[in-house]
Amino acid sequence: MTNKEFVVFGLGRFGKSVATTLADSGCEVLVVDDNEDKIQEMADIVTYAVKANVTDVDTMETLGISNFDGAIVAIGENLEASVMVTILAKELGIPYVLAKAQNDLHAKILKKVGADMVVFPEKETGIRIANKLLLGNFFDAVELSSTFSMMEIEALTEWNGHSLRELNLRAKYKVNVIGIKKNGVLDINTDADSPVSKNDILVMIGKNETLNKLASMHS
Ligand code: ATP
Ligand code: ATP
Ligand code: CA
Repeated sequence: MTNKEFVVFGLGRFGKSVATTLADSGCEVLVVDDNEDKIQEMADIVTYAVKANVTDVDTMETLGISNFDGAIVAIGENLEASVMVTILAKELGIPYVLAKAQNDLHAKILKKVGADMVVFPEKETGIRIANKLLLGNFFDAVELSSTFSMMEIEALTEWNGHSLRELNLRAKYKVNVIGIKKNGVLDINTDADSPVSKNDILVMIGKNETLNKLASMHS
C-alpha cells in the first residue's frame, strides 16, 4: 500500500500545521509557497517543498499532483491566489480539495469553483473553545459528523456504584459507551455489569446535543 499524498498550498500557521501533522502521520506531503523562508522552514519536515507562485499555472502543472489524494488550500488573505489554485487543483483531477476561507463570501466562492470542503479554522476553533469554557468541560471531543461526536463525559454523581445495565444509557440517552477511564487509564472492554465510580470518565458516542447536555449536568 502506498502512503497518501497531499499538497498544501500556502504555509501560514494553518498550512504549516496541516502539512506537519500529515507528514508526521506518514503521508507524502508537498508544500508550495512563494516565500523562500517558509519553504526553508518546512524542507526537512515534508517530502517536497517547492517555492512557487500558485497563480503560475505552468509551474503548477509541472508539479505532478494529478494523482494526489487531496489538496489543502491554506491561503487566506490572497483571495485571487486561493480561488485560482482551488480551480486548478480540481481541474488537475485531485479528488478532495479542502480550502480555508477568510469570510462567508470567500467560502461561497470557493465552493462555487469546486472546493469539496471549506473551513474557517479560527472561527471553528473559537466556537469549540468557547463551548468548552461554557460547559466548564475541558474534556476532549471528536466530531464524527455534524450531528455526532465522541466525547469524554465525567460520570454523574448519581451514577456512582451503578452498572451500565442499570443506568441503561443506550435506551435513556441513545449514547454508546465505548470505553471508561479509571484513574486516567482507559479500558475499552466495557462490561455492562461493572459498577461506574463517580470519578470515572466515560468515552461516549452520541448526538452532540445529548453529549453537551450530559456534560453540563454536573452539579
Ligand atoms: P494563517 O493560517 O497564518 O492565518 P493566512 O490564512 O492568513 O494564514 P496568508 O498569510 O494569506 O494566510 O498566506 C499563507 C501563505 O500563503 C503565506 O506563507 C504566503 O507566503 C503564501 N502565499 C500567498 N499568496 C501566494 C501565492 N500567490 N503563491 C504562493 N504562496 C502564496
Ligand atoms: P440491548 O440489546 O438492549 O442493547 P444487550 O443485552 O445487547 O441489550 P448488554 O450488553 O447486556 O446489552 O447491556 C444491557 C444494557 O446495558 C443495554 O441495553 C444498555 O442500556 C446498557 N449498556 C451496556 N453496555 C453499554 C454501553 N457500552 N453503552 C451504553 N449502554 C450500555
Ligand atoms: Ca491570517
